[in-house]
Amino acid sequence: MNIILLGPPGAGKGTQAKILEDNRGMKQLSTGDMLRAEIAAETPLGIKVKGLMDAGSLVPDEVVVEMISNRIEQPDCAKGFILDGFPRTVVQAETLDKMLAAKNKKLGSVIQLVVDEDALLARIEKRAAESATVRADDNAEALKKRLAVYREQTAPIIPYYEAKGMLKKVDGMAAVNVVTDQIDKILG
Ligand code: AMP
Repeated sequence: MNIILLGPPGAGKGTQAKILEDNRGMKQLSTGDMLRAEIAAETPLGIKVKGLMDAGSLVPDEVVVEMISNRIEQPDCAKGFILDGFPRTVVQAETLDKMLAAKNKKLGSVIQLVVDEDALLARIEKRAAESATVRADDNAEALKKRLAVYREQTAPIIPYYEAKGMLKKVDGMAAVNVVTDQIDKILG
């Protein structure tokens, strides 16, 4: 099954995606991780997007659409993929629909991790403290920007999937294993 994990930065999408990889053999496709790899390798694309990412802005839709389009064809996605951080705009959501139709693939659920925004800064600070390499955008200023971007550009995809009857909400403030249980119930 192919799914989308949706939620603001720090909602726990990456944590749950990794658990789904371990438990179900699905593949996490994080556009943020892919872009950070491009930056680390100093590719032309990485150099182009670094400033936008560090500031907490979105990179152009075409960039992530192409990455995802190539990635979902790979054999490691055969048992299903988990889109983590994509789509992030209505244009990306619409393009994803067309892309999947053209590739004869289907989307199962769109799972929204519902979180209390006040708690997100604390979560991001914790991630920065625990992680070996601190992300350039895991600081208070960039997080504020990322949250504003989420509200303005990403939240509108919630009604988009709601209208299609695909949206499932889970309590992202619950303990990690409780969130996993909620997702398991949805996926069956
Ligand atoms: P993330 O790791 O998902 O929090 O993404 C980190 C950053 O990568 C975002 O703040 C954006 O700059 C960029 N990014 C990741 N995914 C997307 C996307 N689907 N569309 C546009 N920008 C993205």
